[in-house]
Amino acid sequence: MRKLYSASVVKCHTYNPDELFLKVKEAIGLIGGIEKFIQPNSKILLKPNLLMDVDPEKAITTHPEFVRAVIKILRGVNCKIYLGDSPSVFGGHIEDILKVYESTGIKAIAREENVELVTFEKRFIQDSLLLAQWIKECDYVVNLPKLKTHSFMVMTAGVKNLFGLVPGVSKLEAHKNFYQPEKFAGMLLDIYGIVKPALTVIDAIQGIEGDGPATSGIKRDFGFVLAASDALAADTVLAKIMNLKSRAIYTNQEAMRRKLSAADLNNIDISGKDAASFGITDIKLPRASLKQALIYRLPEPLARLLKRMLYFHPRIDSDVCRLCEACIKNCPQKTMSNKNGRIVIDYAQCISCFCCQEVCPYAAIGTKKSLLAKIMGM
Ligand code: SF4
Ligand code: SF4
Repeated sequence: MRKLYSASVVKCHTYNPDELFLKVKEAIGLIGGIEKFIQPNSKILLKPNLLMDVDPEKAITTHPEFVRAVIKILRGVNCKIYLGDSPSVFGGHIEDILKVYESTGIKAIAREENVELVTFEKRFIQDSLLLAQWIKECDYVVNLPKLKTHSFMVMTAGVKNLFGLVPGVSKLEAHKNFYQPEKFAGMLLDIYGIVKPALTVIDAIQGIEGDGPATSGIKRDFGFVLAASDALAADTVLAKIMNLKSRAIYTNQEAMRRKLSAADLNNIDISGKDAASFGITDIKLPRASLKQALIYRLPEPLARLLKRMLYFHPRIDSDVCRLCEACIKNCPQKTMSNKNGRIVIDYAQCISCFCCQEVCPYAAIGTKKSLLAKIMGM
């Protein structure tokens, strides 16, 4: 019987442009080819993950050669391509976003491939969510996430990447309003429901594990490209590849609660001759998410009790900190400050969103555990 969604997994260990182009083309070909998802002569908004001002070799942002490969495939159906993201940096001022485009190698690719870089000053509101107007101005959104672990959501890939379509400081507001992981995951799914990317192609060649998604994580060669007809279906397949129960990832857990069909592996046709051989058995999850991994195994009353006693907060390593104050500017609770040359956190106000860890350019923010978490060896 024909399944509702399709996904493909193709092994790839290189960002060499020619080889990568063939691998990305193969992955998209296995799910039906670009023409199945994109009408010729369309306007496309490309949405890579450009989290911060960082060299692409750090594996924190979608690699520019990966973006180039997708651009070339879209050119095959004569599309007009726009590319945009709203990184976390400094509240999303335009000049900082342009700096991110430059340092991540995206500006050079855009110039060489004649793609227009856009910023998200124009917005619209739908279902109380503020989103970039470019979503409406283009015929399709093509989603190009980077595979990374994520201290708050466990993993960032298909669905979480769409959060970058929330412009600038509005992202901090969203963190403040949806500070519980389950609620935040629900908000991400609402965005996914509005945006409905036509195609998701994940750069899982190199990514981040451990305390991702940024400098506190560990770069890892995952070695594959994943293409999917649906962003949530892509995450469902990734959970399988990483040997995680689907509900270990907050967005998938919430999607299962909402009974979304793309959260069910049975609804996804997975192709690619390499798919069966995939299986990452040793993924290092973020320390802050270990609580989630434990709690989902417990009976509900015990889980509720433990949730209150098991907690994780960010911790500043003052020896590594360079006082750039990116964390202070990005804390949605405004609970961080520079006190006489040391960054301090008012833990009474901290909501453990780990936005500070996400934006620290120097990996100076670790994870502090509650006593129970320490006793349990988490
Ligand atoms: S201190 Fe860090 S984890 Fe706590 S609220 Fe601020 S950004 Fe979030
Ligand atoms: S902890 Fe990181 S982001 Fe915060 S001031 Fe220090 S170096 Fe900058």
